[in-house]
Amino acid sequence: MRRTKIIATVGPSTDKPGMVEKILLAGVDLLRVNYSHQSHTEHERRVQEIRKVAASLDMEVGIICDLQGPKIRIEKFTGGKILLGEGDSFTIDGKMEDDAGDQQQVGVTYKDLAKDVKAGDKLMVDDGKLVLKVKEVIGHQVKCEVLMGGELSNSKGINLQGGGLSAAALTQKDQEDLKHGVSIGADYFAISFARMADDILEARRLLEAEGSNAGIIAKFERAEALENAESIIEVSDAIMIARGDLGVEIGDAALPPVQKRLIKLAQDMDRAVITATQMMESMIDHQIPLRAEVFDVANAVLDGTDAVMLSGETSIGLFPDKVVEAMSRICEETEKQRITRVSDHRLNQRFERIDEAIAMSTMYAANHIGAKAIAALTETGSTCLWMSRISSGIPIFAFTRHTSTVRKVKLFRGVYPVCFDITHTNPLEANKDVIEALMKQAIVKDGDYVIITKGDLQGHRGGTNNMKILQVGQATEHTL
Ligand code: PGA
Ligand code: MN
Repeated sequence: MRRTKIIATVGPSTDKPGMVEKILLAGVDLLRVNYSHQSHTEHERRVQEIRKVAASLDMEVGIICDLQGPKIRIEKFTGGKILLGEGDSFTIDGKMEDDAGDQQQVGVTYKDLAKDVKAGDKLMVDDGKLVLKVKEVIGHQVKCEVLMGGELSNSKGINLQGGGLSAAALTQKDQEDLKHGVSIGADYFAISFARMADDILEARRLLEAEGSNAGIIAKFERAEALENAESIIEVSDAIMIARGDLGVEIGDAALPPVQKRLIKLAQDMDRAVITATQMMESMIDHQIPLRAEVFDVANAVLDGTDAVMLSGETSIGLFPDKVVEAMSRICEETEKQRITRVSDHRLNQRFERIDEAIAMSTMYAANHIGAKAIAALTETGSTCLWMSRISSGIPIFAFTRHTSTVRKVKLFRGVYPVCFDITHTNPLEANKDVIEALMKQAIVKDGDYVIITKGDLQGHRGGTNNMKILQVGQATEHTL
C-alpha cells in the first residue's frame, strides 16, 4: 500500500474520454482544479465528471481548487510576441492599453508595479527565462535593461527576484472563484502567493461565510512566505512547496534546503505538506521519466512529504495515466526503504489536548508492539493527521461517516479512509465491526495486533479519549 499521496491537475489532457478513470485507477488520490485557466462552467463540468467516474469505481477523490492569486503578468502585444536582445531597453507600464504592447513597452496586470520596485531590482519574466534589470522608475513606468533576452509573448508571468511585491493574496477574482469552488464541493482551497498568516485567515473567513469547512493549503511561492513560515503554517491545514514560482523568487539552488526545512516544519506543527512542480516534467511528452525525476520524487518521499503533485504532466501532457503509474511506482519502492531517522516529534512538548495525547500514545504503542493496522474512529480526521506525523510503516485507517472527512484525509501520508457510520453501529459491537472491515480488505488476519481509537461519546468531534489494543481473533474484540 502506497503511503505517499498523489495529486494530479486536470486539464485538456484529462478531458480525453476514459482518462479520468485511468488516472484514478493508476492511483490518484486528489485532483487539482486550476483557477488560473479556463472558466467556471468548465471547472464545474470537470468536477461533476470526476465525481461521477469516482462513484462508478466506488472510489473517493479529493478536489483541490487552486486559486490564481495575484500572479503578475505582462499584458499583450499587438503582434502576439516580440524578441528581446541583451542590452535592449524595455518598459513595463502600469497605465498602458492592455493590448498595445510593442518592441519598446508592454502593459502589466498589476497596475501598482512601479510602486513596488526600484532601480537595481531584477524582474524575472516567464519563469526566469528572461531577466530585466530596473534602470529607473518614472511614475507608472518601470524602465528596464534586458539582462537576459529571448522571445516574449502575451501574458507571461513576472516575479521580483528576492520578493517584495505587495499585491494582496486574495484578488477580487479569487474571492469569486472561492465561492464557485464551494458551490462545486471543493475539499481544499490552495491560496497562491500567500505572504502572511492574514492572507490565510482572510480565506478562512470567506469560507466560513460561505458555510464551507474545506481545508486551506498555503502555497509557498513568495520569498516573504518563508520569513513568515511558522505563522502561516499555524493557521493553515496544509502547505504546498510551489517550487515553480518560489524558485524564481529565491533562486533554484535555494530550493532543496527550503523543501527539507518546510516539510520538517509542517510535520512538527502537525500540518500536511505537498511537494509540487516539475516532478515529472519530461513526461509531458515522454513515456518514461528522467533518472533525475525518479530521484526527485524519491527524495521528496524520503523528506517525508505527504503528497507529490503533478501539474502540466497530467493537465496538458500526452500520457497522464503513465505518469501517475510511474510516480506511484517510485513512491512505493522508496517507501520500502526504512527511514532510519528516529522521530523526535513532539518529544519535548506538552500535548495540548486529550485526543492529541491519545494519537501520540497510539503511535508509540503501535510502533513498539508491531501493530498491523491502526483504526481511528474519527469525525474531522484530526486524530489521523496527528498519527500520520509520526514515521511508521503502519497503515492508519480513518473510519468516518462524513464524506468531507473521507476526502480530506486522502491528503495525509499513510492514512486511508473507510466509510463507516458509527451512529448506525451498536456501540458494543463497534470494535468487532472495525476488525471485520479490516479483515475483509485482507489488511489483518488472526493473531495480528490492531489499535483502535475512539471517543466515549461517539459521533462527537474532538472527543477521542481512548485507545484499545486488540489481537484479531481474541474474544476481547467484542467488548467496548
Ligand atoms: P502554480 O503553482 O502551478 O499554480 O503556478 C505551483 C508553483 O508555482 O510551483
Ligand atoms: Mn505558482
